[in-house]
Amino acid sequence: MTRPVAVIGAGPFGLSTAAHLRARGVPVRVFGDPMVSWRDHMPEGMLLKSTPAASNLDCPQPGHTLADYCDAAGIRRLVSDEDIIPVETFIAYGEWFQQKLVPGLERVRVVSVDRDKSGGFELKLDSGEMFTARAVVVATGLSGLAHLPAELAGAAADGPAPTGPVSHSSQHHDLSRFAGKELIVVGSGQSALETAALAAEAGARVRVVARGRGRVAFGAPPWKQPKLRPESPFGRAWSLWAFSYYPHPYRYLPEATRHFLVRRVLGPLGAWWLRERFESAVQVQDVERVLAAEVPDGSPVLTVRTHGGHPERLTADHVIAATGYRVDIAAMDFLGHELRTRLAVSRGTPKLGPGFVSSVPGLYFTGLPAASSYGPVMRFVCGTEFASPRLTNHLASAHG
Ligand SMILES: Cc1cc2nc3c(=O)[nH]c(=O)nc-3n(C[C@H](O)[C@H](O)[C@H](O)COP(=O)(O)OP(=O)(O)OC[C@H]3O[C@@H](n4cnc5c(N)ncnc54)[C@H](O)[C@@H]3O)c2cc1C
Repeated sequence: MTRPVAVIGAGPFGLSTAAHLRARGVPVRVFGDPMVSWRDHMPEGMLLKSTPAASNLDCPQPGHTLADYCDAAGIRRLVSDEDIIPVETFIAYGEWFQQKLVPGLERVRVVSVDRDKSGGFELKLDSGEMFTARAVVVATGLSGLAHLPAELAGAAADGPAPTGPVSHSSQHHDLSRFAGKELIVVGSGQSALETAALAAEAGARVRVVARGRGRVAFGAPPWKQPKLRPESPFGRAWSLWAFSYYPHPYRYLPEATRHFLVRRVLGPLGAWWLRERFESAVQVQDVERVLAAEVPDGSPVLTVRTHGGHPERLTADHVIAATGYRVDIAAMDFLGHELRTRLAVSRGTPKLGPGFVSSVPGLYFTGLPAASSYGPVMRFVCGTEFASPRLTNHLASAHG
């Protein structure tokens, strides 16, 4: 019997890759909980920062864009840059895409992946089943990569938790639990600012603690974007245009530059439509840095260094660290020890060659773990347009 390709992950990147592989006639088994990062690890009521044009799951079969979903569901078409996508609509789009193009999806976890003797891979599922695959695509996205900076870890001895003194933003869906409470949100990216605004609207008293002077900032609305610069899914700018449409040469940049750009390009900046809601409801405290966090009597206390260089103690009922995600192969514990030690990595991220293949033939990475090789666009849904057809071409010609 022909051994299938295993796609691990059923978020935008896993579903898009699977749709491409199926269209090429490659036998594929797809594992994961469809759109789970969006359904369980982002706040209820969230709106997408990306525009409708930048929120399509790429596939070769026509008729599967976000606008097509809106038509099929009989809801208002989301198409222009001024149309804002509710997270609930985006989740429903992903599930519709999955039902139409990836119907055999298996809602089970892959617990281990190891090399087998014939040059393929042996996978174990949490159902207990074991099988061999000719190639493996890792599309596990944000899962397990939430980052809690060391200076906050002191107040989270047993790890961050929504019911403890410190949590990570990925641990919240329903922010109404903070109604009537004092909340500190650490961070200045869209996730921090939107979490803060939603918690304030749910009745919390919220302060955002942001590192750096004037760090909290918002992007320009579509009608104020500079007209003479080229359009990209993220706004008008030459750099964004190049990163969006020409990620090919990115992996030849020096290592330090690649990692720097992944962190900084499209980095902390609130969406234009969030400004008013945020500024009317949330207090901002700029600090030079957060020094430490402790829990002297059940509630968290942050010690920060002010821009004047003085330490200051900030108290709250709870601290949410909206401090993002960090790719680390070591945290992908489903990859067997031998595989992880054989993988060429750069600062914890897999080094990828043409077609998103890692240094282990047959093992591919897409989405966030591919960003240090193919650039910041891989952190976003619109990265599927570049990644999925190229990965599929490479895999089909090497292992088809
Ligand atoms: C708050 C927030 C807001 C965002 N807003 C936007 C936005 O507006 N626009 C945008 O383009 N991007 C946005 N992003 C980034 C977005 O999350 C990613 O672009 C996208 O989710 C990446 O998709 P993915 O398929 O790689 O991973 P994910 O969506 O994280 O999916 C991971 C999949 O892997 C599966 N999985 C994990 N481990 C295993 C395993 N061992 N076995 C089987 N399955 C497994 C999960 O079940 C899941 O199906 C946002 C991120 C955050 C945190």
